[in-house]
Amino acid sequence: MARTRWKKPAHEVLRVPEGFRLESLDPTSTPGWKGGAKAAVQHMAKQGVALADLQERLYADGKAGGHRSVLLVLQGMDTAGKSGTVSHVIGLVDPQGVQYRGFGVPTPVELKHHFLWRIRRALPAPGYLGVFDRSHYEDVLVVRVHELVPEAIWSKRYDEINDFEAKVAAAGTVIVKVAFIITLDEQKRRLGARLKSAAKYWKYEPRDLDERALWPAYRDAYQAVFEKTSTEVAPWHIIPANRKWYSRMAVTELLLEAFESMELGWPPADFDVEAEKERLAGA
Ligand code: AMP
Ligand code: MG
Repeated sequence: MARTRWKKPAHEVLRVPEGFRLESLDPTSTPGWKGGAKAAVQHMAKQGVALADLQERLYADGKAGGHRSVLLVLQGMDTAGKSGTVSHVIGLVDPQGVQYRGFGVPTPVELKHHFLWRIRRALPAPGYLGVFDRSHYEDVLVVRVHELVPEAIWSKRYDEINDFEAKVAAAGTVIVKVAFIITLDEQKRRLGARLKSAAKYWKYEPRDLDERALWPAYRDAYQAVFEKTSTEVAPWHIIPANRKWYSRMAVTELLLEAFESMELGWPPADFDVEAEKERLAGA
């Protein structure tokens, strides 16, 4: 597929660089992309066709006994674009091959277990594209910001997460981690839109406004995540997300590159094709 509009592969452009500082990122920027909004929408339609083909190959691979899968981890503040990405990007592929899971406030049962318990249970089965809408990272983000557990506990979680992800990757899962970064002003605008339309009230939560006051604490918590958990097998990608046309197209490109890296073919027939053709002709 022609990549003429991406200067370099998206995973190279968007991967958290050494020494990255979140406050120096411009969420209105469109790194790596040589066109505007219209070109991005057109490009995304093409990407979708290629992505759907590769996802079908992965699904077929799983049915044929393969052990591989893909896990897309979506993180970002409220309104940053996580659920829009699910509908617009994941919506490009066959839902049969998708395992979607959103992570909210842990249930009493989940709270009785180690923080990775609910995560392990939600990992994609072989052949599937798993999508985590929020994830184990909440356990070092909201949990850290609100001190829901003592520092002695959350501070150990970065290493635990790295060990966990290394095992998941070694078992055959390609992990794609993306963080959507928006400005405080853009979040205000998007929350305002949720208050303007009855069709959007259901997305609005009064306590989201309280989280806005904690923006600097969240920024520090995200900074720590990027510094401590961007590993070789599971690097973080930073998505400037003030422009939805860019953030969605960029995530699509990252996913596509991840699937391409798997070099998926079609599983060979486990029957005699010619013999079956003859049988069918006579059937
Ligand atoms: P939403 O993504 O809008 O459905 O909101 C889910 C809410 O659940 C967010 O406010 C998250 O911060 C919260 N949440 C997710 N995981 C955890 C966790 N491990 N501990 C506490 N709150 C969490
Ligand atoms: Mg919400």
